[in-house]
Amino acid sequence: MRVITSAEEMRSACRALRGQGGGLGLVPTMGALHEGHLSLLRAARARCPAVAASLFVNPLQFGPGEDLARYPRDFEGDRRKFQAEGVELLFAPPVEEMYPAGSRTLVAVEGMSERLCGRSRPGHFRGVTTVVSKLFHIVEPGLAFFGQKDAAQAAILRRMARDLNFPVEIVVCPIVREPDGLAMSSRNAYLGPAERRSATVLYRALRRVQELAQGGERSAAALVAAGREVVTAEAGVRLDYLEVVDPDTLEPLAQTGRGALVAVAAFVGATRLIDNIVLPPSPAGG
Ligand code: AMP
Repeated sequence: MRVITSAEEMRSACRALRGQGGGLGLVPTMGALHEGHLSLLRAARARCPAVAASLFVNPLQFGPGEDLARYPRDFEGDRRKFQAEGVELLFAPPVEEMYPAGSRTLVAVEGMSERLCGRSRPGHFRGVTTVVSKLFHIVEPGLAFFGQKDAAQAAILRRMARDLNFPVEIVVCPIVREPDGLAMSSRNAYLGPAERRSATVLYRALRRVQELAQGGERSAAALVAAGREVVTAEAGVRLDYLEVVDPDTLEPLAQTGRGALVAVAAFVGATRLIDNIVLPPSPAGG
C-alpha cells in the first residue's frame, strides 16, 4: 500500500492504477477506523479491481465550537487497518494540501444541505460536498463507497454526482452496529460508561418507530411523537431532531406509505450521535 500526501501524486498514482485495467473504487474516511469503515473497504474490495481510500479530517465540515480539535486520530493504527483490507493507495493529505491559502470554491447542494443535520450544523454538508468533489477529481473513481449511517450525506452526494455529471456510481453500504444496536461511530469513543449505555436510546427509538410502522401506522406525526417519547425519557440525552423524510429529497413526509427515512440525532452528554432506519414502501403505497 502506498501512502500519498500530495494531490498531484495521488492523481498520477490513480491514473497509473486505472491504466492496468478495471475500475478504481474510492472509500473516503476521517479515520479512527471501526467495523463500519471496514465494511466499506470490504465492499470496495469485492467490487473493484483496485481500491483507494482517503484519510482526512475535513475542517470544512466542522462548525465553530465542534469537535475538530479533539476528533480521534490514530494514523498508525488506521494505516495498518487500511493495509490489512488490501487498499492499494491511501491518500492522507495535510490540510494545506486540500485547502491551500486562497482556496475559495465551495460545492453545495442547495435545499438538501439545510435539512436534518444541516439545520443544526450550518455549513456541514457544504463542507462534505466540497471535499468529496475534490476527492472525486483527484482520484477519478468509477465507484465510491459511503455508509447508510450518514443517510442524508449519501442522498446529498448522490444528487451532487448527478447534478455535476461526476462519472461515478455512489454505493451505499448498510449500517454496522454494536451488539446492543448502537451504530458504530468514531465519536462513540467520547462516551463514558453511563453515556455508552444511554446511547442505545437512538436505536431503541428507531425500533419503536419501526414496530409501529410494521403494525400499520403511516402517519409521520404519530411515528415521530412515539420516537421522541423514547428519546426524551432517557436522562442525560437531549434530542436534536427525529424526522420522517423522503429518502431521496430529504423533504419531510406526512405519510410513510411510499417508503421513508426515519433519522434521529441526539446529544448524549456532550457527544452528538446520529442514526436512522428506512421504512420500506407499504404494499398499498400512499
Ligand atoms: P467518517 O470517517 O465518520 O467520515 O465515515 C466514513 C464513511 O464510513 C462514511 O461514508 C460513513 O457513512 C461510513 N460509516 C461510518 N459509520 C458507519 C457504520 N456504523 N456503518 C456503516 N458505515 C459507516
